[in-house]
Amino acid sequence: MTFHHRHQNRIMGITEEATAWRRDLHAHPEIGFEEKRTAGIVAAKLREFGVDEVHEGLARTGVLGIVHGKGEGPMIGLRADMDALPMPDLKTVPWRSKFENRNHACGHDGHTAMLLAAAKILCETRDFAGSVALIFQPAEEGMGGGKEMVEDGLFRLAPCDSVWGLHNWPGAPLGAFTALSGPVMAGVDYFDIRIRGVGTHAGTPHLGTDTVLAAGHMIAALQSVASRTAPPQEAATISVTRLSAATAYHVVPDTTEIGGSLRYVNPAIRPKMEAQLRAVAKGVAEAFGAVAEIDYRVNYPPTINPPAEADLAAEIAAGLVGAEAVERRAETCMAAEDFAFMLNEKPGHYIWMGVDAPGHTTAKLHHPEYDFNDAAIPYGVAYWLSLADRLLPRA
Ligand SMILES: [Zn+2]
Ligand SMILES: [Zn+2]
Repeated sequence: MTFHHRHQNRIMGITEEATAWRRDLHAHPEIGFEEKRTAGIVAAKLREFGVDEVHEGLARTGVLGIVHGKGEGPMIGLRADMDALPMPDLKTVPWRSKFENRNHACGHDGHTAMLLAAAKILCETRDFAGSVALIFQPAEEGMGGGKEMVEDGLFRLAPCDSVWGLHNWPGAPLGAFTALSGPVMAGVDYFDIRIRGVGTHAGTPHLGTDTVLAAGHMIAALQSVASRTAPPQEAATISVTRLSAATAYHVVPDTTEIGGSLRYVNPAIRPKMEAQLRAVAKGVAEAFGAVAEIDYRVNYPPTINPPAEADLAAEIAAGLVGAEAVERRAETCMAAEDFAFMLNEKPGHYIWMGVDAPGHTTAKLHHPEYDFNDAAIPYGVAYWLSLADRLLPRA
């Protein structure tokens, strides 16, 4: 192992155990807000380790543990996500998912195992003042478990001074970290547009309203919502990914539906993009004699790392793996992440941890053959412990 930490031996010592936890979670994945078994295991282990406070049922299936150190001091929040994806697991490893359409294809099994291992070592050593909040959130994958944790009183129960997130990152090598300042993940909204007209026979289009033709023009025109609303320097994208019309060759349908997502990095642009989407959809539908019904859903805000904590996270990671293994520049990932809701409340940082190594799958996040790299466990545990070392006084 090529990292340095004062508890290095203990971290290496717990890795085998944490790998077993990770593989058990991988074999029993649960999707958002259904993480009952996972949450039960997490809560039981936190109690077994001697975590002082264990709160269950936050955001339905979330778990919050709080470890108090020796004496007064700040409180830091460390966050892991617990949910899997509703997709098949196409691997052949012994810990492959036992369930048809559930797969830990984003590595949240690894995140949960690493935070549990850090919790165990923090309880054993307890050589700090202040407190560490261990945040195990449900439903990160599109369902807003992070938002619900905040609304359910996460930061009332655990009044953290700062909050820290970590995600494994295929494409970056094992032992490397990426600590970006500013937008690290995009904000995302979803929309459905129902175009209503008058159905007719395909041979008599002049007697109806062609909603498919209107949809075609609308899909093209919607591109302007990103390209002509956000300044060129700020990433924004709109993708129409759903389309449903008639199922016959000779029917002009009275209704055609399109849907998709809109992504952005600047929160100030979001309302402008929404307004432009509505105007384009309404205007194009009207131009073709149809009516657009718009269902627009604000989803995740962008995850924006404040600069001071980004520097701090980079420095802490550099202390573990060396400055040359800490990347400070990378493109914003236009996927979204609901740690954003926690970062909107508290200062902190969302770091990417490399996992690529020879002999391990190169499948990317959300790929049916993706598997968390267990060799990354000690790096994640060491990063969590280093945050506590750096942000809490030694006692
Ligand atoms: Zn994911
Ligand atoms: Zn994820």
